[in-house]
Parts: sequence; C-alpha cells; structure tokens
Amino acid sequence: MIAVEHLTKSYGDFIAVNDISFQIDEGHVYGLLGPNGAGKSTIMNIMTGCLSATEGHVRIYGYDIFEEPKEAKKLIGYLPEQPPLYMNDTPLEYLKFVGEAKGLRGAKLKEQVEKVIQQTKIEDVKDRLISSLSKGYKQRVGVAQALLGNPKVIILDEPTVGLDPIQIIEIRDLIKELGKTHTVIFSSHILSEVQAICDRILIISKGKLIAFDEPQNLEKLLLAPNEIIITTDATEKEINEILANINHIVDMSIEEKEREYLVAHIKTDHDNVYEISRSIFYGFAEKGRPLLEMTLKKTNLEDIFVELTESSSRDIEPTEKEETDK
Ligand code: ADP
Ligand code: MG
Repeated sequence: MIAVEHLTKSYGDFIAVNDISFQIDEGHVYGLLGPNGAGKSTIMNIMTGCLSATEGHVRIYGYDIFEEPKEAKKLIGYLPEQPPLYMNDTPLEYLKFVGEAKGLRGAKLKEQVEKVIQQTKIEDVKDRLISSLSKGYKQRVGVAQALLGNPKVIILDEPTVGLDPIQIIEIRDLIKELGKTHTVIFSSHILSEVQAICDRILIISKGKLIAFDEPQNLEKLLLAPNEIIITTDATEKEINEILANINHIVDMSIEEKEREYLVAHIKTDHDNVYEISRSIFYGFAEKGRPLLEMTLKKTNLEDIFVELTESSSRDIEPTEKEETDK
C-alpha cells in the first residue's frame, strides 16, 4: 500500500537519505528507529509530500506522491516533528480550520472534529488556547489534526520527544489504540519505545535502511553472539577437542579452505569477545596448532544498538530530573 522505491535525498554533497526502499502493508504499527541525524524526518517529509526527493519514488496506494499529490495526500495524516499549531487558537478552532483545509464542510466537518477530539482525549481542553496547553496536550492536538479526514495511514515524527514520562506513556497508548484502526508509522530514537509499540521496525542509520523486521527477530539479531573466525591446520577432531575446553561457545561450524586448512566460525555469548579470542589462541597454541588467521565479525546492527541504547539513556535522565524538580 505504501511503496518507497530507491529514495535518495542529497543536500549538495551530503546524502541525507541513501537509496532506501521498503514497503508498508496495511494494519501494522511501523517504527522508524534511528539515532538523531539518521534521516528519519527527511524520509517522512518526503513520504508525505512535504519535501522533494533527489531520486526515487513514493507511492501511496498506487498514487505517486509527487505526480498525484492530491490523491496521495488524502490517504495520509501527518504530524511533523514541529507540529504546525496556531497558538492563539483553541483546539476546536484549529481543528475546524485544518478540517476545512482538508476539504471537510458542514455536518461532516463537525462530526469529524468531534470524533478526533474524542479519539485523542482532548475534550476537556478543546476551548482553551493552545498556547496554554501542556506539551502532552499540544501533541494530542497535533495527532488530532493528523486524524482529520480519516486517512488510512497516520505518520508521526518523534511524537514523544520532549514529553514527561506520564505523557510519554499516554501518547504511546494512543499510538497503540490508533494502530487498531489505522496503519501507523512513527519515528523514534528510543529502542525500547519502538519495541513496546511496533510490530514492524525499520532501523535507519546514516541515511540507509539497515534492518526491517519484527521486533522479536531484530532482538535475536541485535543480541546475536559475536563471531570469531579462525583458520587452522588442525583437524576437525582437534578443533572440537580444543573448543570443548572453552566456556561461552554457543555455536561452531567448520568449512574447508584450500584442502589442507579448516576455517571455523565460532559464536560466543560472552560479553567480552576478546576473552574468548584469548582462550582460543592459547588453546590452539598449547596443542601445537598455532592459528594461521583470526578475525572477529560484528554485525553492523550491534553498533547501532549501542548508539541507540546510549542515546535513550541520555534522554531519560533530564526528564526524570525535571519531574523531581516539580
Ligand atoms: P533525523 O530525523 O533522523 O534526526 P533528519 O532527517 O532530520 O534526521 O536529518 C538527516 C540528515 O540530513 C542530518 O544530518 C541533517 O543535518 C541533514 N539535513 C536535514 N535537512 C537539511 C537541510 N535542509 N540542509 C542540509 N542538511 C540537512
Ligand atoms: Mg527528526
């Protein structure tokens, strides 16, 4: 239903989005996960027709976002990173205005505005000035305007940024609720948040899509053991004997190389892979079979994982402090 094909966005020499392709199917909550600067907002701005692409296509239910923007945009509701709120309006006035801009009139407009007010639970504040609302409520008004016109797809750019912990939980619950009736795509740089809400995760790093899977499959990948690859002239039997004496080896496979050498792929669940390398090195040396080659294989994902977990722990601290200050 949404097809993103070879999407590229360059700013001069800098490539913000680098040849990204993926497909979004109906009825799921998708999380666009990536550290700051990864290219998430750029991708979302292009998908929603707010920004041109340097190369590639975006099709929304078959409509090209650049060639048939009117039809395509009707199917999407978008909450950008900086919600376009009018501070001197009340939510009710603002939503009527946005509804009209989306082509709603009369009874239809009234009904839609009431519906999104209910969906986002802003009934109590609908007649207050937007400028006087808490960040959490402002964000709900932003989500409400995205829902107007009942688009099939809701795209939310970092909807929980800047919210306090309670507001974060409320917005996450709202996203889950919306996921029951809409296809939702939202972005975040917080791994745990995406894991909690999404049933499909796209990991973006430095403008590239580096993984796209269900959370449980990604977890397996992210927590995948490190792999040590050795080349030896020991026999298969000797390799097995040596490795049997080393703890924290969870998997091993052997392949033949140039007939007289064997290559073993050894996986470990030890958090310090170098400890295991050291044991393997001495194990083989003691048997009189010095290693001919030893390399470590780390998945690209692991580096991203570290970056994501570091950035999310940085995020949580100030919000918690803010809470205790009150
Ligand atoms: P994210 O939303 O993942 O934090 P963005 O999509 O906002 O990332 O940005 C991706 C990269 O593109 C960043 O390095 C950013 O500095 C760069 N970028 C975004 N907009 C512009 C622009 N108008 N001109 C030049 N560089 C930009
Ligand atoms: Mg962004």
